Amino acid sequence: MRGSFPVEQFKTWSTPFYYYDLELLEHTLSRALMSVSDVSFLIHYALKANAHAQILSRVSRANLGADCVSGNEILAALAAGIAPARILFAGVGKADWEIELALQHDIACFNVESIPEIQVIGEIAARAGKTARIALRVNPNVNAHTHHYITTGLTENKFGIPLSALSAAIDTSLHYPHLSLEGIHAHIGSQIVEFSPFKDLCRVLNDLQDSMAACGIYLKHINVGGGLGINYEHPNHHPVADFEAYFRIFREHLHLREGQKLHFELGRSLVAACGTLITKVLYVKEGEQKTFAIVDAAMTDLLRPALYQAYHRIENITSVSTEARVYDVVGPVCESSDLFARDFPLATTCRGDLLALRSTGAYGEAMASGYNLRALPTSHTSEEIFHHK
Ligand SMILES: *Cc1c(COP(=O)(O)O)cnc(C)c1O
Repeated sequence: MRGSFPVEQFKTWSTPFYYYDLELLEHTLSRALMSVSDVSFLIHYALKANAHAQILSRVSRANLGADCVSGNEILAALAAGIAPARILFAGVGKADWEIELALQHDIACFNVESIPEIQVIGEIAARAGKTARIALRVNPNVNAHTHHYITTGLTENKFGIPLSALSAAIDTSLHYPHLSLEGIHAHIGSQIVEFSPFKDLCRVLNDLQDSMAACGIYLKHINVGGGLGINYEHPNHHPVADFEAYFRIFREHLHLREGQKLHFELGRSLVAACGTLITKVLYVKEGEQKTFAIVDAAMTDLLRPALYQAYHRIENITSVSTEARVYDVVGPVCESSDLFARDFPLATTCRGDLLALRSTGAYGEAMASGYNLRALPTSHTSEEIFHHK
């Protein structure tokens, strides 16, 4: 089954470009919100997945919070109308100006990742005469069983405070009068489709809460990060992530205290499916063992296959052929890793055909680069088409 796209419209736009289906985005956001149901569960959108202004405005209108990893992401979230009280600031390497900016806008919480960072935020907050609310990002040593480049919760990863250093981190936090310790945070990885690691995470967090409570520390919130995966193989049959099952895990396994909030930071599962990279076939080249479909998009437009050997379903959306052949779909950049798929079955493909690389709304356009002096990809949304009608 092929996705249904406004192909005639696509033919008028220069390639490569990202196409965002904003109706699917809104549907996904409302499904996520319906599945949370619980008022103590708060979803924050991880802007790093895609900070396209129209996506952010939909996220803001749906009343989601924001999970930001840079000062510029904080500014983008504010510009989209997301309230500072719903903005979190994460990341292992926050620069001083970014901390100052976050304090100046009085954002909800800093997710802090090391003792030196706690000290720096404590000092900057004192100088600014502000209180910084912080959550300690712990490294729970839970294996997310995903690609090792997107596994973040093992002790070998750079993220979070190791459990063995947690009590020192708590002491440091309590030492600074301008810090308010409000939560604990963990994020174990991305594209997680087998949910037992989330149960392991709940178990670790329950134990942590118990031992903190024994020391008289009460937390206003727990943050379990993001990581919910999507179905990259079958985007037409499974366009929406399994939010129901995901939130149920936490409802059943995490022990929230009276009045405590549970924060989620979802990126991929909210925006991946609504994005498609459209590229034109430049040449079909017969190699000795392979047939290459050389396209005008490259790893500079969509890095995930080169970076994590990620799979994206590819469809030829203009071929009228009923025959299929296998192609290596490759870009023009001078790197062997500039390859979107190996031996991928496509309807017989010719120069000029348009290919759709599916489920590229997350970590697609956001990771684009100018390598080889290539232009950044452009983007279009379903909204533009409705305006033309
Ligand atoms: C990237 C990231 C997220 C979002 O992850 P997804 O897999 O896209 O849901 C959430 N929290 C933190 C700390 C992250 O680094």
